[in-house]
Amino acid sequence: MELTLDRAADAAERHPCPKCEAPAGSACRTRSGKVAAKYHTARFILVPALREELGVAVPADRGPGTPWKRGRTCNGTVSYVKAVRRGQAGVLRGAAGGG
Ligand SMILES: [Zn+2]
Repeated sequence: MELTLDRAADAAERHPCPKCEAPAGSACRTRSGKVAAKYHTARFILVPALREELGVAVPADRGPGTPWKRGRTCNGTVSYVKAVRRGQAGVLRGAAGGG
């Protein structure tokens, strides 16, 4: 099964990372506390469709290289992030507050 970068990232983020302990919904982080450029192998191999990949890049919208923030951890926030990416932020404004 072929996954686009974005779908691969979403799939990888369904699991918390065993390596850097980034929670589900968040990109991997480096030891220096920045968003990693790639998901850790230990994480993306949890996704059967990604198991044979050599590397899964973190998409630009996660801000690789910028300071890592927890913030996509709860389901509501994940939905909000997805809505933002589809240009529907206004619909859910307020629904994902309090983060
Ligand atoms: Zn990780």
